[in-house]
Order: sequence, then structure tokens, then C-alpha cells
Amino acid sequence: MHRLIDGVLRFQTEIHGKRQELFNELGERQRPFAVFIACSDSRVVPELLTQCDPGDIFVIRNAGNIIPSYGPSSGGVSASIEYAVQGLGIPNLIVCGHSDCGAMKAILREDKLDKMPAVGAWIKHAAAAKEIVEARFSPGEAEKKRLNALVHENVLCQLRNLTTHPSVAAKLAAGQLSLHGWVYNIDSGMVDTFDAERQEFVTLTRDSTAQATPKLMVRYQTRK
Ligand SMILES: [Zn+2]
Repeated sequence: MHRLIDGVLRFQTEIHGKRQELFNELGERQRPFAVFIACSDSRVVPELLTQCDPGDIFVIRNAGNIIPSYGPSSGGVSASIEYAVQGLGIPNLIVCGHSDCGAMKAILREDKLDKMPAVGAWIKHAAAAKEIVEARFSPGEAEKKRLNALVHENVLCQLRNLTTHPSVAAKLAAGQLSLHGWVYNIDSGMVDTFDAERQEFVTLTRDSTAQATPKLMVRYQTRK
């Protein structure tokens, strides 16, 4: 705990005062420009990865960067998404998976979850990703390869789940929200981004315009 308390005191004396103007502004309101859905993993730090300031990104984190499909028993993730998209009107949404994800490993090794029933239940929201990877790879394939595929498929699976949320579906239909699917590689710092036009993950670059917004959800003109 000492390390945390020392950190808070250092933040108060060395950081907060130097950016008083920013914090005064943030004390009144927030106007983030992106929703960032990431894993709770300690190695994934959205503000560090994107070099964003407080107030820039609205972060939702849980084990496996999972978004349960919308349903009658909505939980905290659904409420956070609704508030971000409908309440704050944030125009960009990124689902970001990462390499060496413990939640994704748990999906591949489901037999080891006897003592973690809550984790077992939670990762069922990624069942489609698991089935896709099992259909594409034989069980004999190296785990590292299957894990990497699962991390990527899970991002796509969660993007699909996202579109079942009425607030997200409405903003997509109105052309007021863009979706992005990222995978962050912890070792290299590189980010893969899903390009819906090419239907594949590509390396994120300065000129990257790749979007993961599903074609079905792209704005269309209703025939009169
Ligand atoms: Zn993870």
C-alpha cells in the first residue's frame, strides 16, 4: 500500500498542480472523444497506449474486454456503454484486446476453471469466438497460435455483441458512431486494427482509416 499512497502524494504535489487549468476544466464536465473497452490486465494501460490525457477517453475495463449482448438483465457494461454513447454522445468506440490475455487462455483451458465459476460464466460471452477458433484450428495446433487467433476473434465477437445494444445500433444507423477493433501486442507495442473493407486485421499506422463498423449497420437510404 505504501507504494500507492506515495504515488497519490507525488501526483498531488508534482502533477496535479502543474495542470491545474486542465483539472479545473475537468472538474466541471467531461467531453471524451472515444470509448475504449479493454481488458483489466495490469499490462494494458489505455491512456499510456494512446498517450491520452484525463478526460480524453471513456474507459470500460473487464476480464477479456467483453461486452455481453443486450438483454433484459443488463449489467454494468451495458449501462456504461449506454451512458457513453447516448448520454455523452461519444462518436468513436474501440474494443481493444491484447496479447497473452488470461481470459482468452481460460477459454482455451476451460477445464482449469473449477475454482473460478464466475470467470467460467463470464467468458461464455465469448463463446462464438471460441467456436470459430475451434472450427479453424485443430486441437493439435500450437496454443500460442490458437490464443492469438482467439484474441483477434474475440474482438470481432464483442463488436458484434455491441451492435445488439440499442444505443449503439441507433447511433450507427444515424452515422454518428464508428467502431474500431484493436489488438495490442504487449511485447512490441504494435496494434492491429480490423479493416471491415478488407475483412482482416492490419497494422495500425498514422494513415490508418480502418473501421470495424459492420456493413449491415452502415447508414443506408430508405427507399420511398
Ligand atoms: Zn486480458
